[in-house]
Amino acid sequence: MINENSRVVDVGGVKIGGDNPIVVQSMTNTDTRDPDATIDQIRRLVGHGCELVRVAVPDDEAARSLSRIIAESPVPIIADIHYSPDLALMALDAGVAKLRLNPGNITLDRDIRRIADAASEKSIPIRVGVNSGSLDQEIIDEYGRTAAGMVASAEREIRLLEGQGFEDIVVSLKSSEVNMTVESNRIFAEKYDYPLHLGVTEAGGGRSGLVKSAIGIGTLLGEGIGDTIRISLTADPVEEVGTAYDILRALDLRNRGIDIVSCPTCGRTEIDVQGLGGYLERNMGDVTGSIRVALMGCSVNGIGEAGSSNVGVVGTENGGLLYVDGEYKETIGDDDTDVMAEKIEESVRDYMGRGG
Ligand code: SF4
Repeated sequence: MINENSRVVDVGGVKIGGDNPIVVQSMTNTDTRDPDATIDQIRRLVGHGCELVRVAVPDDEAARSLSRIIAESPVPIIADIHYSPDLALMALDAGVAKLRLNPGNITLDRDIRRIADAASEKSIPIRVGVNSGSLDQEIIDEYGRTAAGMVASAEREIRLLEGQGFEDIVVSLKSSEVNMTVESNRIFAEKYDYPLHLGVTEAGGGRSGLVKSAIGIGTLLGEGIGDTIRISLTADPVEEVGTAYDILRALDLRNRGIDIVSCPTCGRTEIDVQGLGGYLERNMGDVTGSIRVALMGCSVNGIGEAGSSNVGVVGTENGGLLYVDGEYKETIGDDDTDVMAEKIEESVRDYMGRGG
């Protein structure tokens, strides 16, 4: 279910909101002052399906790198600005496709008006990016660090922008607490139709980061709230993109990449299901089409799952039975997981090459 009631905002040709697909974005963790490293990382992110990339702009030197990064990036670039209205203006001059401002640290009315006027002249949208960890002191005094305070912080900046006739707005309300993230977005979505960028901020790394993001973002998307997502993980940002698609696929919102169906393994397991799954996840993040791959340890549920997948492998004592589109093709590998994994990879790439 997509929130078709939100407005549409155009970010360098990528449309966020309305009935457009949920847009997947990420943020580089390279030093923006190093354009080569940043461009390399942007290309890797885009290779894994990232549709918009945000870069931090902490100082003048980073702002001066932007023109080259923008010129060489295959997707629109968003500038992440804190504290300094001048950096926002420099980023606009450099040609960014969107600005992210933090209403907790650019607070003066005249600064926000100045940025709104410059963005309006170039038709560049602004994300009002509220973070519960950096709320303005006035908001904290009145509301505490609460969902209502987060919404009030966004509202204050929205009013200033609207006062300048600026409505090209995306909003995010992020907290490291899942419940506060969900609640603030629900409150906001009830009142406004500006598109929402979802994320659980500082979710952490590894398992706990994935779980927090999946629950926070998944809960909201399941209610039709949210138009673009960024998964914040303490990890290589490429993992953020893979996780974003996993969440979207689980909700049947987008189907990019390999949907791995694999059994939990048990005492009947005849092949290295975990090793095969790990291989596909590590080596096949570049697959852009949609494909379902079943990895099953034995024939108990294996034949059924492999038979109803695009590519499937079922463990037997002689190796893996390979199925393509429900038909048995051959028996692959023996005890060698890598040989079997490469054969599955070949079958998946063949399948995609035939247009799925
Ligand atoms: S498919 Fe076979 S190996 Fe896998 S969990 Fe089920 S019974 Fe065990």
